[in-house]
Amino acid sequence: MIDPFGRHISYLRVSVTDRCDFRCTYCMAEDTTFLPKADLLSLEELDRLCSAFVAKGVKKLRLTGGEPLVRKNLMWLVDRLGRHLKTGALEELTMTTNGSQLARYTADLAAAGIRRINVSLDTLDPAKFRAITRRGDLDQVLTGIAAASAAGMKVKINAVALRGENEDEIEDLLLWAHGEGMDLTLIETMPMGEIAHRAEQYLPLSLVRARLARRFTLTDLPDRTGGPARYVRIEETGGRLGFITPLTHNFCESCNRVRLTCTGTLYMCLGQDDAADLRAVLRSSTDDKPLLDAIESAIARKPKGHDFIIDRRRPAPAVARTMSLTGG
Ligand code: SAM
Ligand code: SF4
Repeated sequence: MIDPFGRHISYLRVSVTDRCDFRCTYCMAEDTTFLPKADLLSLEELDRLCSAFVAKGVKKLRLTGGEPLVRKNLMWLVDRLGRHLKTGALEELTMTTNGSQLARYTADLAAAGIRRINVSLDTLDPAKFRAITRRGDLDQVLTGIAAASAAGMKVKINAVALRGENEDEIEDLLLWAHGEGMDLTLIETMPMGEIAHRAEQYLPLSLVRARLARRFTLTDLPDRTGGPARYVRIEETGGRLGFITPLTHNFCESCNRVRLTCTGTLYMCLGQDDAADLRAVLRSSTDDKPLLDAIESAIARKPKGHDFIIDRRRPAPAVARTMSLTGG
């Protein structure tokens, strides 16, 4: 699939649920109302939709959410999608998780062919972890990470850089992740959803990078892993550090992905509202042809990029939906 700007679309992110066992302060409100369960696509429908994307040339599929591992019977879907790895139609099946349920599901994930996994972890301080996630248990996540590594999965740590919250801990996170043989990727908080204190939390990664450069030697790397991160090698640790900088450096020119929600809405851009309702098409016929056509015409409308901006004088978010609904 090629969009109007000549970009090859080969990466689908699927938010399998908007629900989550955490309430990270930058992601969702404490009293978030989740979608009625009746609105969700069934796992069979998600399989059919994802398989249609694979038929259209998607090579990489990431399951995300909300927290993907809290969706009931998710392993059925993971296992089903694994068949596309076996045929070679899909090159990679992967997941982004908060890690709370990871230890329980590691063996099943590995058996389905998941080789790499992203775990979100913003701090190594148990009290701060609980405060940022509003309910998470750090030990449980660390146990999950250890289990995934022991099962042979490549784990990457994602951390959102938060002013005044984890900004003094970024070096520790880096040394810990690299000490465990894991990449670390830092993310700028994005203006998605009505979240209190967004502007106060926003920490530009240009600043973080400049601070790290005082202590470490950062060598730019050409590596792209199919996502928006730009990587450096930290010469002192030998590990990789990624920067996802939607605010300070827009990465849309190389965007290869689209996002599907758990209700079958396809967002062609993380930061724009235009969307295609694939659930209606999916349910209108058992024949896949209309679905494949609807995917094709949605891709033909993929916008050039997002216009994220975080400004104390303009408190409205770029898009009203949260990252957990769209699928981060
Ligand atoms: N629950 C899983 C997790 O936390 O890894 C998967 C879904 S979560 C929405 C995916 C990623 O989006 C996480 O790494 C999270 O830190 C990030 N995220 C959530 N809200 C964000 C925001 N407003 N700006 C930047 N990153 C955000
Ligand atoms: Fe849940 Fe992930 Fe959002 Fe945190 S970032 S509230 S873990 S969906």
